[in-house]
Amino acid sequence: MTLNGQIMPDDLLRASFEDLFEHGPCGYLLTQVDGTILRANETLLGWTGFDRNDLMGRRFQDLITVSGKLFYETHYFPLLRLQGSVMEAAFDVLRRDREPLPVLMNSTLRTDVDDHPDLIVSVMFDASMRRAYEHELIRSQQRAEQLAAIVRLSSDAIVGMSPEGIVETWNDGAATMFGYSERDIIGTDLRHILSLTGEDLEWTDLLIKLRAGRPVQVDMAGSGMNGERVDVSASFTPHRDFLGSVETISVIMLNIAELRAIQRLQQEFLAVTTHELRSPVTGIKGNAQLLKRRGAYNERSVTAIIGLAQRLEYLINDLLLASQIQADRLVLDLKEIDLTTMVRATVDFLDVSDSVIHVESPAEPLMATVDPMRLSQVITNILTNAVKYSPAGAAITVRITRDIREVHISVIDQGVGIPLAALPHLFERFYRNMDSVGSIQGLGLGLYISQRIVEAHGGRIDVVSEVGHGSTFTVSLLHR
Ligand code: ADP
Repeated sequence: MTLNGQIMPDDLLRASFEDLFEHGPCGYLLTQVDGTILRANETLLGWTGFDRNDLMGRRFQDLITVSGKLFYETHYFPLLRLQGSVMEAAFDVLRRDREPLPVLMNSTLRTDVDDHPDLIVSVMFDASMRRAYEHELIRSQQRAEQLAAIVRLSSDAIVGMSPEGIVETWNDGAATMFGYSERDIIGTDLRHILSLTGEDLEWTDLLIKLRAGRPVQVDMAGSGMNGERVDVSASFTPHRDFLGSVETISVIMLNIAELRAIQRLQQEFLAVTTHELRSPVTGIKGNAQLLKRRGAYNERSVTAIIGLAQRLEYLINDLLLASQIQADRLVLDLKEIDLTTMVRATVDFLDVSDSVIHVESPAEPLMATVDPMRLSQVITNILTNAVKYSPAGAAITVRITRDIREVHISVIDQGVGIPLAALPHLFERFYRNMDSVGSIQGLGLGLYISQRIVEAHGGRIDVVSEVGHGSTFTVSLLHR
């Protein structure tokens, strides 16, 4: 042994070995074959908080947990006898304050001159950090698995792709959105099913941006397994590895078909509404100019102006009401009234000089709790339709009947009728059956509003119709 190139004297060498034994970074333990402690070094005493005297005569098995003791006696010691040594067994040594100290222990069995087992020499390493790392590792593995499960089962399409655009992961949401299973798609190029809708960005440009670490959000047209178009809004996010280069790209796709449909509906709505509002305004202006030019009162022009203003008022009311219904803000002002009187008053108020409206009703009053204004509006809407979608002068009947539970108000016309395919859509917002409306004006809101009002009363509207023969709309309400 040398010290600074010099031979180290024996006593100095022994002293430094002694120091290493007592204070080195591991615990040393000498026990008899039955585990009785003969010697423990300073490091082990420091770790456990025991004095040298505390340990003398105690057995190592009594210093560890119950499960550790069981393991020591059934496995560790038998193995030690069999092999002469055991490496890296994990024990929890109970410190003086009863706190467990995780250790890894190596032991060798010494024999005496007659080859009888005589002494166990053990070295222990403090494994608390290692145990903490292991726990952390398990916890992060669990977290990663949970996260993977969330991504896999998410109903949004979440896809992982390589920086070259090759699909690496494909979740349930993507499978539902496009119809392709994970097996069909992993390993293929994402551009086979997704194309960019905007001309300003090519796939290659997109990949260049992503590889440079820049996230991209873009609307794309996808194609599903059955060739159907799937409109999506896709968010591409590049993820870097620990060296900083882009390793994978996550793609989250939202199906925007519904959004597109709403946008189309909004555009149509704007076009129809503008047209519907403009025509009475043009009429009012024309008639007012006529009055001005003539400089004298003219009955026809004034009547026309009042009628057109009235129409404008209806349109604006319908729009307001539809938006209230849409926002769930329809409030009813309930009163107990006679429905026959209400229906007759509504018919009388309606200015339909071209049509003949017959009202058939039972003689006795039909009392019900309703919002008279709103219900009168429903009857007006249905009657106006009966007039609008019938030839001029065609007869219209309003029939009021009752059974044990309900009152039925039917409006029967002999007009154009409604095709079977259109019936399920009649009560949708802005729906108009374009095959039959021709140049007849309307917003497609009347029946939507009417149905919501009747439903708010706990009632319903039924339709029976035959093309070319006419339609019957029946409002049914509970009576008293
Ligand atoms: P609008 O009359 O403003 O178009 P509605 O909501 O009142 O809107 O009616 C929706 C559609 O239902 C109409 O566009 C029309 O195609 C059809 N419809 C309603 N009532 C009748 C009827 N009595 N006869 C024939 N078609 C009708």
